[in-house]
Amino acid sequence: MVEKAKKIWLDGELVNWDDANVHVLTHTLHYGLGVFEGLRCYECVDGRSEVFRLEEHVVRLFDSAKISQLKIPYTQAEISQAIIDTIKVNDLRSCYIRPLIFVGDGPMGLYVEEYPIRATIAVWPWGAYLGEDGLKNGIRAKVSSYTRHHINITMTKAKVCGHYVNSMLAKKEVKSCGYDEAIMLDPSGYVAEATGANIFVIRNGVINTPPVTTVLAGITRDSVIQIAKDKGYSISEKTFARDELYLADEVFLTGSAAEITPVREIDDRMIGEGKTGSITKDIQDTFFNVVKGADKKYESWLTYV
Ligand code: PMP
Repeated sequence: MVEKAKKIWLDGELVNWDDANVHVLTHTLHYGLGVFEGLRCYECVDGRSEVFRLEEHVVRLFDSAKISQLKIPYTQAEISQAIIDTIKVNDLRSCYIRPLIFVGDGPMGLYVEEYPIRATIAVWPWGAYLGEDGLKNGIRAKVSSYTRHHINITMTKAKVCGHYVNSMLAKKEVKSCGYDEAIMLDPSGYVAEATGANIFVIRNGVINTPPVTTVLAGITRDSVIQIAKDKGYSISEKTFARDELYLADEVFLTGSAAEITPVREIDDRMIGEGKTGSITKDIQDTFFNVVKGADKKYESWLTYV
């Protein structure tokens, strides 16, 4: 269970947490066509709170909706403001934020001419997604037998509710084998991403991440690319195969929930020295300084609450 906050924003109103309910015939519940975001609000070193890359997340929400032909009945500015209002009303210094655009109840069946579009924003306190120990010392991952989406089966640039069935199958599969997270290959067999995070590999000081063809264009991924470039690391977006994971000196995952999580083992092969690598640690330290407002260079990424 997540830790309850006080209020949830639902269709323009702030309602009590326990009253934010929907009808069982809610269309998205049946067919999975809804779009969502996941972002974080961090408590800063000066005591203020900031939402990390708010604008980029709201733009991606609207992009996902456009791809899915869902017309959001609010402007981007209204959704951004609603996110800020929801954090404020809940008195949270730091939290996870979940905006969701969904099709409400009324019509059933796959073809609906006019969807009743509904919107909600929930916030709750959420610690390290893959555990505090994972964030510090690295996690154990396994390549899943489930393939990541084909680009012409689902639209991989969209963060659509139903896409996550694939992620959940992969996650359940590897968790039941005792691993922390699944790595998924694309339909051609190249490394794609984790179930809810992008992946980076480092060998001989060179950082690589798969291009955004088959993976979600992660906003943390983009932040890491910029931070790594600014630090003078050699970084590129390139396709690579599974065995390059095994030969990497360092591997890490990025995501708004996962933040920057090192991977210390993949498919029972130790990655590098089996602990957080020095480049990963350097980028991770900078990332946490940035989100806590301690690195003014990236101040434009922060929206103070
Ligand atoms: N890939 C997938 C499938 C995801 O669900 C996420 C989380 N949104 C990411 C990558 C990372 O994206 P971001 O850094 O924008 O959270």
